Amino acid sequence: MSQLGEFELIERYFKRPAQRAVLGVGDDCALLQPRPGTQLAISSDMLVEGRHFLATVDPARLGHKALAVNLSDLAACGATPLAFTLALALPHVDEGWLGPFAHGLLALADAHGCELVGGDTTRGPLNICITVFGEVPVLAGRSQALLRSGARPGDALYVSGTLGDAALALEVLLGRLSAPAAVLDAARLRLEQPSPRVALGQALRGIASAAIDVSDGLLGDLGHILRQSGVGALVDADVASSLVATKSYYTRASGQFDTQPALADWRRWALAGGDDYELLFTAPPSAEAAVAAAALASQTPVTRIGQIEAEPGLRLVDGQGRPLANRYTSFDHFG
Ligand code: ADP
Ligand code: MG
Repeated sequence: MSQLGEFELIERYFKRPAQRAVLGVGDDCALLQPRPGTQLAISSDMLVEGRHFLATVDPARLGHKALAVNLSDLAACGATPLAFTLALALPHVDEGWLGPFAHGLLALADAHGCELVGGDTTRGPLNICITVFGEVPVLAGRSQALLRSGARPGDALYVSGTLGDAALALEVLLGRLSAPAAVLDAARLRLEQPSPRVALGQALRGIASAAIDVSDGLLGDLGHILRQSGVGALVDADVASSLVATKSYYTRASGQFDTQPALADWRRWALAGGDDYELLFTAPPSAEAAVAAAALASQTPVTRIGQIEAEPGLRLVDGQGRPLANRYTSFDHFG
């Protein structure tokens, strides 16, 4: 335990020279200068112990994740990261925790050129709230931001990267599944150190018709696009569940015999598992080559998992096109 006070703590761990910001940490406000022809994109996400992370998580990974989930929102809007603020409640000053936390946080910030320009620090149950600021160009009077509301019938539905691995890691950590150590390590990185798809989001400006990041489960987040666009969708559950990267290594942790999870379980982890932080987006058929080029340029794999239809609602099918009941609910803090 240390005697470090609030202001020394900020000075030591969170104050760095301003880069692009006009004014960073140290005054009553930070100052950012929006570039002409751009809009500010702003988003906040809070991480609460026991709710969003386990008390045992490595602090460097927690610092990374706290910013990653916010950068993922900028990615979903196609915004370029600029800066962020950090509001932190700490039960006590533990420099053995603060050092790696700040390191994990600021390493990801540096990787995305997103600078810490201010925040607030208080005593309380561990709680991390970040607000990010990004920019999107306005071209010929039109914002280039990707929105949830732009999906149109006939558009293809795509998702980036892999699905369900974070949810599987959590199942293992909670003792409901078991997996070889190397598999858990890989899945756990997806849970604890997600890679926000910032480059892909920017590459999709002017190409995608709608986008959202998958944080609460694919189908639930797709529901937001469908409602806000006034459309429906057809989703191939088997293509989606083929995107679980660490599949085939898990067994049920309880019971007398090792049993593999059932097909329905894989579908559920892929379609409703949380914490993927992938981009789910739509694009017209004419943009197929442009989507592939954006994926290549951002070095982010993208898979077509379905299509947008005029009829509202979500229709799930298996790999043979047979209808499946949609029993998959996504995470809701008050649900
Ligand atoms: P005020 O009381 O005027 O809100 P504070 O004393 O809370 O200011 O903070 C002093 C300065 O330190 C401010 O510039 C604030 O933005 C910054 N700051 C406080 N906590 C953090 C933090 N966790 N990370 C980065 N900057 C912080
Ligand atoms: Mg304050």
